[in-house]
Amino acid sequence: MEYISTRGGCLPTDFRGALMQGLAPDGGLYVPAAWPQLTPPKPNQTYIDTAASVLTPFMDGFTDEPTLRTLLKDAYASFSTPDVTPLKPLAPNFAVLELFHGPTIAFKDVALQLLGRLFDYQLKKTGQRITILGATSGDTGSAAIEGCRHATGADIHILYPHERPSDVQRRQMTTVHAPNVHAHAVRGNFDDCQAIVKALFADEAFRTAKNLSAVNSINWARIAAQAVYYVQAAYSHAEPVTFIVPTGNFGNVYAAYVAKNMGAPIKRLVVASNRNDILTRFFETGKMQVTGVESSLSPSMDIQVSSNFERLLFDALGRDAKTLAATMADFKKTGNFVVPPATLSSLRNTFTGVRCSDDDTLTAIACAERDYGYVIDPHTACAFHAYEELKETLGGPVVALACAHPAKFPEAVEKATGKRPQLPEALADLMEREERFDILENSIDTVKKALS
Ligand SMILES: *Cc1c(COP(=O)(O)O)cnc(C)c1O
Repeated sequence: MEYISTRGGCLPTDFRGALMQGLAPDGGLYVPAAWPQLTPPKPNQTYIDTAASVLTPFMDGFTDEPTLRTLLKDAYASFSTPDVTPLKPLAPNFAVLELFHGPTIAFKDVALQLLGRLFDYQLKKTGQRITILGATSGDTGSAAIEGCRHATGADIHILYPHERPSDVQRRQMTTVHAPNVHAHAVRGNFDDCQAIVKALFADEAFRTAKNLSAVNSINWARIAAQAVYYVQAAYSHAEPVTFIVPTGNFGNVYAAYVAKNMGAPIKRLVVASNRNDILTRFFETGKMQVTGVESSLSPSMDIQVSSNFERLLFDALGRDAKTLAATMADFKKTGNFVVPPATLSSLRNTFTGVRCSDDDTLTAIACAERDYGYVIDPHTACAFHAYEELKETLGGPVVALACAHPAKFPEAVEKATGKRPQLPEALADLMEREERFDILENSIDTVKKALS
């Protein structure tokens, strides 16, 4: 499989190139040159079987199927259920797809547990060492640490804003005692952390010396790993399915679109955003317009722009890289762009956007407990809110994605239900584990020294 950049300014690469580079050299995102077509899964096929059949065509030339199966088995052995992403029916034609059974109890584990193994496999092949550097407001950092801790060819450095993440989020980063894992608390906010990471990636000499690498959500391998659970869940139904996806960077819902393009029986995709509703506004009007970010009860969806949207736009523009590149350049300069009416209406054949305020979030958590006896986290609540809003109009089976375990965001859940959710067994002693982290001044040089 060849991967091409959405901006058309560099040569195609293979899976290894897309995996190790993340972002394409021209600033675009890698997408497969063509969509491979699925062979429908057999009844009762395991998650690993589905993953192997979905991922093999994306990885030709990188691994063979038996090796891939070994990597997959290892990656998903860390999950608390062999189903990996179990589907729970809650009402006729309404089910929830639980994505939080991995080590950090949020959905990013599904992709990052595999990504860490793929990195490790590649680094062992070449004997190369890399430094994985990332900034996090909470969730991605711990999922990256858990995914990459076993990759002995990688040193992992995660910056987070000192005293900002929740206790659970911080402890998931600071209690992993592997020699290649480093959690750094920076005296600043998330934007400061991200600015330092950007500056270090822009420092050519440092980037080369350290072989800096990122594990952010634009990495093609993460998207491909996420397409698997959509395929598995879609084929579990007799009719085409509508998925409702809590959305921030558009990685998760784009993976659903990939599964649909590969032939999975998917009817519609509902993009659920919180008060940071840039995507919902786009699907309503055809205009992408940046505004400020406001914090919400679903912090992992507090985004200003959704970077993976560029991949969808590329297809919507007929894979015209020139127009796409011009649109993105304009967007960077002016903070907005508009798509032609025909493009918007073709996107609306598949996508619907719904926004969810903090009040809606609390109501949805309370209603899910009352109506289904099911406790949800505030991100999942955005999907449940969208379901309530649209259920009369959707038709056919609907699956809401549960992106985090409720115990990951206990304050919001307690506020809505009056009960504090308990951590699952594997994390029950998290609050007693020894923490290890350093506190760094908010300066590029200080962080640079800490990485040396
Ligand atoms: C990252 C995250 C999201 C948003 O997913 P995207 O792929 O960025 O759209 C939603 N919920 C939770 C709990 C997350 O960690």
